[in-house]
Amino acid sequence: MSMEHEWKAPNLHNVAFLRSAVKESDFPTDSLPQIVFAGKSNVGKSSVINKLLNRRNFARVSAQPGKTIHINYFDIDKRMYLVDLPGYGYARVSKAEQQRWGTLMETYFALDLLTLGIQIVDIRHKPTWDDVTMAEWFRASGKPWVIIANKLDKIKKSQLEENLAVIRQTLLLPEEVPVIPFSAEKGYGRDQVLALIFDHMRKDDLG
Ligand code: GDP
Repeated sequence: MSMEHEWKAPNLHNVAFLRSAVKESDFPTDSLPQIVFAGKSNVGKSSVINKLLNRRNFARVSAQPGKTIHINYFDIDKRMYLVDLPGYGYARVSKAEQQRWGTLMETYFALDLLTLGIQIVDIRHKPTWDDVTMAEWFRASGKPWVIIANKLDKIKKSQLEENLAVIRQTLLLPEEVPVIPFSAEKGYGRDQVLALIFDHMRKDDLG
């Protein structure tokens, strides 16, 4: 008998903030899958997380971009961790803060806790050097990773293919990394991203 049909998706209403991690001992090391969200400040990372969870104000929509150099852990139905990496690439951030960001990334990625990486970029623009760096962290992790191209509602349909191609080329994405057009505002792409997350959780659960 296949276990496939017994697998239940997590209850996305059963969500709680767990903690902010700043050092190695803060990271949960149990076997729950860790779905990691990364993106440039202001790309809409909080909005995307809120849309996926159907919450209005769960991941705080940033009032002060770049001010948070810690990793937020959310517990999703005791089934997975949603890991919110600090936004990067905020123009007014100091050298010292950039270094703290890099050190925190090194700490997290060295622990090898990641199950699935979700990198959010702006569908309107060529990814920045910081986006390329973040993509390199995910690529080097050897774990599955996907790109959410957010703010789809802000481009014309005729621009879609070209913009997706620019994102793919600039981030040097391996073929297996999907780029999912998304709008946190309108909800486009939500079902596709959730299906992807659940698929990775299911694989993880089945060992
Ligand atoms: P964060 O800094 O990456 O967490 O970004 P926020 O979630 O705070 O979003 C930054 C700004 O972009 C806010 O004004 C959001 O309302 C807006 N925003 C986020 N996602 C979308 C989207 O899909 N479409 C549009 N039009 N605006 C968005």
